[in-house]
Formats: sequence, C-alpha cells, structure tokens
Amino acid sequence: MSDRFSHLWPPQNERISAALESVYCDGDWGRYHGAQTTMLEGKLFEYFDCSYVHLVCSGTIGIELALRGLGVQSGDEVVLAAYDFPGNFRCIEAIGARPVLADIASSSWSLCPESFEAAISPSTKAVVVSSLHGGLANIAKISAIAKHHGILVVEDICQVPGAVVNTDRVGTFGDVAVLSFGGSKLLSAGRGGAVLTNAESVWQRINVFKERGNDTFALSQLQAAVLNPQLDSLDDDNALRTRNALKLIDRTALVDGVSGLSYAEGETPVFYKVAWLLKSCQQRAMLLAEARQLGLPLFEGFKGFAKRSERRCGKPVSLRNSECASDTTVLLHHPVLLAEDSVLEEVGAQLVQLFDQMG
Ligand SMILES: *Cc1c(COP(=O)(O)O)cnc(C)c1O
Repeated sequence: MSDRFSHLWPPQNERISAALESVYCDGDWGRYHGAQTTMLEGKLFEYFDCSYVHLVCSGTIGIELALRGLGVQSGDEVVLAAYDFPGNFRCIEAIGARPVLADIASSSWSLCPESFEAAISPSTKAVVVSSLHGGLANIAKISAIAKHHGILVVEDICQVPGAVVNTDRVGTFGDVAVLSFGGSKLLSAGRGGAVLTNAESVWQRINVFKERGNDTFALSQLQAAVLNPQLDSLDDDNALRTRNALKLIDRTALVDGVSGLSYAEGETPVFYKVAWLLKSCQQRAMLLAEARQLGLPLFEGFKGFAKRSERRCGKPVSLRNSECASDTTVLLHHPVLLAEDSVLEEVGAQLVQLFDQMG
C-alpha cells in the first residue's frame, strides 16, 4: 500500500533505531526469549493492569488462542458482530465452534449490547467484542449481560490499543483481551500480537496448546525490540491521532448523507481507521475511485458476514446495521493522522468536497 502518507508509517525514529541496534549488538535477536520479550511483557502488565500475557505471532492467532484459553470447544456457540474482522469468524470455526451473528450499533461499527443479548442461546459459551474504526463497543454493558448469562468475553482491541472508557482502559473489561502488532497496526512489529488475561486457568490452557517442545506461536526478540519504544509513546501518539481524527469527523459532520462516528461521553477513542457511512454501495464505489485520483488513503470497510449461509453461522437477529456498514463504510487509514496541521487541513477540505459531490 503506497499513498502520499505512507512515509509516516511504520514509525522511524531514533528510539526504534537504537532498540534495533542494541539487539543486533548483544546478539539478543538470535534468542527465542530474552530481555526484550520480558520487557514487553512487563510493559503490557503495567499498561493493561493484567496478571498474565502471552506474546504471540499475530492478532488472529491471538483470538483463536483466547477462545481456546476460555475452554471454547467444538459445538459451542460464540457470538460476534456481523460486521467484524474476517479472521474472527474463521478463528471460531477453527475450533469447531459455531459463529452466531449479532448486529452492531449504528455509527459505532461495534457490537450492540441488546442485539448480543437477543442472540444468546443455551449453547452460547463466549462473545467476541471488537472495537472498530475508533468506535468503542459498550463493553461495560456487554460484560454485564455476559456475566448474567454465564458467557465469557473476548475483547478484540487490535484497533484500539490505549482507548479508555471513563477511567478504565479498553481491554480490562472482559475475561481475555487480544492485541495485534501487524504491519499497519498502531503498535507494529510487522507481525505479532498478545493475549492478556487475569485468569491463570486461561493462561495455562493457552500454554498447553502452544507448547509443542517449542513455543509454537512465539513473538521474537527482534519484534519485541521495536515494540518497546512504541508502547512508551503510545499515549502521546494516540492523543495526536485522536485530536486529528475528531477534527476530521467534526469537519464532515455537516455534510448531507454522510455519517461519522458517534461516541458516548467518557469515551476516549483511539483511531486506527476513521470511518464514515455513505448512502449506498454505488456511491461508495464512485467516491473511492475519485479518492484514488486525489491520492487520499480511503478504502472499503469489512465485507461482513451477514450474507453467509446459515450452514456456517447462526443468524437469530436482524443484522440491518451490519449490512449497511458492510455496503457503505469508507475508511481513512491512520498515518495521515500524524501529518502536520496544514496537511490535515487540506485532507479535511478534500473529504468535505468528495462527500459533498455525492450528495
Ligand atoms: C488486525 C486485526 C486483527 C488480526 O490481527 P493480525 O495481527 O493481522 O492477525 C483482529 N481483529 C481486528 C479488529 C483487527 O483489526
């Protein structure tokens, strides 16, 4: 992916360069586990106030391991939003469990608590809650409903590391949380992920699954080395991105026929993508073609699962908001959010003009 903001990502700074130099010099990069992975685990314990961390090779494997850690088995049902990261559906299938779809709340791109509750059956074992495109799922409410029904909660925080609801960090509400360190993610090692939990039993089940004479899904010392300095500056980087994303959302709020993120009081979102809903799928195709001409990093959102057959997944509730999001979401990729004010100004003006033309 190359656009006029790609020079802003991945981050290239002295701290990352020094970390790489240091693992090169001390030979740590050739070891399975060592000072860098231990340091990263320590930073994650502290940042997310959790007791156990598994560093893993991707966010996708992280979700699968999280479900295995919770004891999800073949035949169990796992609820997830019908608009979500494609891998999450596949992770549930990989275990032999059955995905059951619930709807998202409009303009949050994230699971709707009421829809989740309506999708629960006696076979529901767990729910995967992703916060997408800066939207934060109402995780307090979802966790309360889950607890009431004896359902376990996986928080997929791959897109929102550092987001806060009231005074609690997203990723501390559920039974287990999953981070991604993929190439485009806000904490990036080109690949990688982490599974966070307070439950020893969850940590232990994952340990048994991944131990095959070696740590089968490990994250390397080299990857940990570039992540450590990024975690140190995450809050500052997020603050800048969030300020700029909210500016763009405000700026486009008055355009007819387009809706941006709605978020509740007390929520401090974090932006991996900034999302808007357009009026139709056709309109989106035209808009994306024009954006390409302008060099704007705008893309389609996820395809979603609402059209998948009932042989593959349960569909007990209306999925109207998810279908709409699948058809009409456009996403702005995050590196632009680190650009200087004058560039951001220009991008804001271009977005308004693009959206206006569609009206
Ligand atoms: C990126 C992402 C993942 C998976 O992460 P990978 O490290 O790319 O496997 C899972 N969930 C969401 C919401 C993501 O954005």
